[in-house]
Amino acid sequence: MTKILSFPSKKFVRFYRDYIECDWCGQLTRGRVYEGSQEIVCGACEGVMFEFETTEEDIVFEPDEVLE
Ligand SMILES: [Zn+2]
Repeated sequence: MTKILSFPSKKFVRFYRDYIECDWCGQLTRGRVYEGSQEIVCGACEGVMFEFETTEEDIVFEPDEVLE
């Protein structure tokens, strides 16, 4: 069963359930996916951590593992 995240009033959703270390700044972040974006960015430095390759308008994903 897939999860479909709907965007709240804030313009981003958190991607990871648990905090991970940002490759760019070393801060712990759960990642942010901004509305209309196909990138996961760090909440501290906004460095791009991951980029989706999708043509869907809504981001649909089901994380099954946490990067460390
Ligand atoms: Zn960062």
